[in-house]
Amino acid sequence: MTTGNPKSYDSVEDRVYREKATLAQMVGIYCAGNRHDARPAEAGPVPAFAADMPEKVQASVARMCPDCRELTEYCFTRIDHCPHMAVKTFCSSCPTHCYSPAMRERVRETMRYAGPRMIFHDPLGALTHMRDTLRAKKAQ
Ligand SMILES: [Zn+2]
Repeated sequence: MTTGNPKSYDSVEDRVYREKATLAQMVGIYCAGNRHDARPAEAGPVPAFAADMPEKVQASVARMCPDCRELTEYCFTRIDHCPHMAVKTFCSSCPTHCYSPAMRERVRETMRYAGPRMIFHDPLGALTHMRDTLRAKKAQ
């Protein structure tokens, strides 16, 4: 399965990183698309939790309204502490959902909105995410 791909998709660190990057971008799409009132006119400072993210993701986080930023940070924390990262890919494919019901509903709404739009925003990231999700489904 690892033919010729120098980037090992099986590394847990890689997947954690990718999951966070995809999630942050999706929340960014959702926040921008829904014209959240508290969204800053200009990008603010990049919060510490997104400091190691790619520039594109940092830019997305820096433009989020406080609610969406809070949601992103919450998800990052969940992902960081997830005991299942070694066997799963994305939280949506996880057998045990560790999000609080309220947060889970917010993430679901965000994903529903941003999922189809992700393909235009970041085609490669979207495809990688779909591939990861399919793999996780097959593995279960
Ligand atoms: Zn927002």
